[in-house]
Amino acid sequence: MKVVNENLPEEKPRHLLGIGEPEDIVEGVRLGCDTFDCVAPTRIGRTGTIYIHRNGKLEKTSLRKPEYQRDFSRLDEGCDCAVCEKYTKAYVCHLVRSGEILGGHLCSIHNLYTIVNFTNKLRDEILHS
Ligand SMILES: [Zn+2]
Repeated sequence: MKVVNENLPEEKPRHLLGIGEPEDIVEGVRLGCDTFDCVAPTRIGRTGTIYIHRNGKLEKTSLRKPEYQRDFSRLDEGCDCAVCEKYTKAYVCHLVRSGEILGGHLCSIHNLYTIVNFTNKLRDEILHS
């Protein structure tokens, strides 16, 4: 990425296709990439995995884990998306473990919201640095 970006016209945006994990986006931004698109948030969401804010970082966890069956907290305490505002880990865990398609949809909505917010914060940090 560094070599390619150094050789592209400076005024042109750099799009990085297929990179969507938070730590990879940070590295892409560091190397000069401007935009990203990737299936990761929905691919992992379809199987019941969500991004969660933990210790100042985004981590992944699977809502299939038995520990979430009686966890009536919101999906992610650090998220204010419509899914987190309305549903608990226990409910979405039930949906995912039961094979209900709604479980994957809810996880995907949360993950997309989380990644968009994550990249918005990166943009703000760049603009205010
Ligand atoms: Zn959320």
